[in-house]
Amino acid sequence: MALVECPVCNKRMSSRATRCPSCNIAVGEESESAARISSIQKSTKLQTHSFLALTLFIAGVVIWFWGGEVAQGNQALVGAVCFAFGFVGYLITRIRIVLHKRKGS
Ligand SMILES: [Zn+2]
Repeated sequence: MALVECPVCNKRMSSRATRCPSCNIAVGEESESAARISSIQKSTKLQTHSFLALTLFIAGVVIWFWGGEVAQGNQALVGAVCFAFGFVGYLITRIRIVLHKRKGS
């Protein structure tokens, strides 16, 4: 059994206790729900990142093939950059989502 500090009154208490014996704050439950909320927030952030990366990827393809012809010059460069960043960004975000879900379960 480990001793932890109460986040409210800073007094030592059991890590298993759900309530601080000094100030009676619900430590165990609150820290658990806080962890769950931050996990959900991170998950939402990753979903947003994957959506942005996918949008960038599609934008790159659209710029590249705009007007039915393969782009040239600056337009081709912008398209290629969007395409590459979107593709790599999307892959990285998907991996992070998988790792995040594996850690959470
Ligand atoms: Zn306390």
